[in-house]
Amino acid sequence: MTPAPPSKAFDQHHPPSPELINQCVHCGFCLPACPTYVLWGNEMDSPRGRIYLMKTASEGATAMTDAWVRHIDTCLGCMSCMTACPSGVDYAKLIEATRAQIERRHPRSQSERRYRQMIFETFPRVDRLKLMRAGLSVYQKSGLQALVRGSGLLKLLPKQLQTMETLMPALGSREAVPPLTPAKGERRKRVGLLLGCVQREFMPEINAATVRVLAAEGCEIVAPPDQPCCGALMVHAGEEAPALDLARRVIDSFERAQVDVIITNAGGCGSNVREYGYQLRDDAQYAERAARFSEKCRDITEFLEELGPRAGRKPVNLRVAYHDSCHLQHAQRVRTQPRAQLAAIPGVEMLELPEATLCCGSAGIYNLVQPDTADALADRKARHIGAAKADVVASGNIGCVLQIAAALKRQGDATPVLHTVQIIDASIRGVRPAGV
Ligand code: SF4
Ligand code: SF4
Repeated sequence: MTPAPPSKAFDQHHPPSPELINQCVHCGFCLPACPTYVLWGNEMDSPRGRIYLMKTASEGATAMTDAWVRHIDTCLGCMSCMTACPSGVDYAKLIEATRAQIERRHPRSQSERRYRQMIFETFPRVDRLKLMRAGLSVYQKSGLQALVRGSGLLKLLPKQLQTMETLMPALGSREAVPPLTPAKGERRKRVGLLLGCVQREFMPEINAATVRVLAAEGCEIVAPPDQPCCGALMVHAGEEAPALDLARRVIDSFERAQVDVIITNAGGCGSNVREYGYQLRDDAQYAERAARFSEKCRDITEFLEELGPRAGRKPVNLRVAYHDSCHLQHAQRVRTQPRAQLAAIPGVEMLELPEATLCCGSAGIYNLVQPDTADALADRKARHIGAAKADVVASGNIGCVLQIAAALKRQGDATPVLHTVQIIDASIRGVRPAGV
């Protein structure tokens, strides 16, 4: 057999695996599951088309042209195609390897480079997010935000900055999670909590609710204050080297905590930390430790299902539309557990949304770098929610919560959007969920 010509597009550091690429039998079952194919109907913006682009690049038949990169850039990394694929093609590994190649080898325009740099130097940095929160809190509380939004000034900003502004949640009080929270009653488990980066500063109420629920269920919770961002935003965008540095620091931090289980409560972060073993497979010092770390990770709803309830649930009487985070349902395969946790609350009526497997457009930094496509998907999702006449939307990922809340607002729909664990917490405490 003649060996394949060297790739003009990819270097030798973990190019997308030809074995994985060749598992695709071109059946097309994934096409209707792919949000960009659903929007545009273009083969090259479908999973099958993107795998074909990877194949031709890998075989040396295509270079990494701007058009080639555009088709890969528009992929949300939602992994809906993996759920749909009967051949078990591991698209997650393919797209991550391809994106890392792009960031190493494809020169982006100066404005794109600067914008991405601003994102990566801010969002994964907890110290900088803290400062940003302080400034934004003044912006909101001084009435300046209302003035800017009411005056139409926002429309003068570039679309990306408009998107950032509209995604910003109303900042409440800072409910910082203590480094150690004791279990209520007899201790059943000692768990670690991954705090996230954006979530820790901008929606700390999600972590606070998670800690209260875990403590009520008999868990002692360790939340190492020195844990950095898990690197999800970076790894999903092809920024491999800084993402791996963050992964090593997260592992160090949780090893010191000596916990039985590591709880995640954001779909994107959860799917990322479960891949540490794979991401650090070449690192002699970390490979085994990373694999052990990944084994311990559980989404909060998955963990609560495994643990079984001890705390009583009081009625909340709500029609709840559950929105699946892509990284929870497709990457982590956690679909039934959040529904079961919510349905177990007395008075909850669960509503299923049409097109539940389609992404809302949040997808890590996707809504910041591809805002028009992200808005189109979010508006579609918001229309389904509006038609369902829900009292509240629940989701297991801060990105989805912010994205859907912004889309509902655009449509003049005041339905609140909460994290699933906030509804469980309200039920255990016997209070009305916030904002409902
Ligand atoms: S990850 Fe999502 S957007 Fe990308 S190809 Fe798969 S289904 Fe389409
Ligand atoms: S469903 Fe799987 S095998 Fe079929 S075209 Fe899509 S990725 Fe390829």
